[in-house]
Amino acid sequence: MNNFIESNLNNFKTNLTNIATKYKRNIDEITIIAVSKYQDCNKINSAYSSGQINFGENYIQEWQEKVKFFQNSLPNLKWHLIGNLQKNKAKYLTDKVFCLQSLDSIDLAKEIEKKGKFEQKLKVLIQLQIDKNDQNKSGITIEQAKLLRDYIWKSSKISFAGFMGIGPLDIEINKRKELYYSFIDNAYNLWKETNSINTQPILSLGMSSDYETAIECGSNMLRIGTAIFGERNKN
Ligand SMILES: *Cc1c(COP(=O)(O)O)cnc(C)c1O
Repeated sequence: MNNFIESNLNNFKTNLTNIATKYKRNIDEITIIAVSKYQDCNKINSAYSSGQINFGENYIQEWQEKVKFFQNSLPNLKWHLIGNLQKNKAKYLTDKVFCLQSLDSIDLAKEIEKKGKFEQKLKVLIQLQIDKNDQNKSGITIEQAKLLRDYIWKSSKISFAGFMGIGPLDIEINKRKELYYSFIDNAYNLWKETNSINTQPILSLGMSSDYETAIECGSNMLRIGTAIFGERNKN
């Protein structure tokens, strides 16, 4: 057991509860993904023992090693893949993936339908661009997202659950808010256009350094790495 993880998690949840209250958000409608890339399995174990269920990984190979390490020992654990996925890795997607958050092209969707090794429909989020001026340029435009949405909406192998966005690293706070509000707005519009049933999309936005703004602007899923696990050890 790792008490440091447990206290980080508790501190984080206390902060989040205060922030939710401040912005009149219901804490029960906000999901925390513990981002465990470059973190040891014993830390994942500690977080799980402290009640954390959802975990996020970026790299297929690292994720596979962790799945293998745990086998079925953490039965309630849900894995979210949040990193850029190359088409040639689609074949590694199995029922062990709870959600792929980084779907960003029809080509990738087709490859997943063809090569993915899952029995149940794979839950996916569309990775939507937040800032077209961001150097990292992650995510797709609204126009591309419309086409992708229409494609996966009809898919028999993939199920469409919402949107993911990665905010820019350094940006002035008011500019960040503006971008996050329009991200949430765009996501709702894209969702409503095809979704006649009264369900809510997953809006995965916010990391260790920007989650307060994300909650203020309407995010309902946070991806938190360093605030829970400490610095990553890249080696
Ligand atoms: C690494 C990563 C995170 C977590 O970042 P922290 O700043 O450590 O909280 C969240 N989302 C994505 C897509 C990531 O790659």
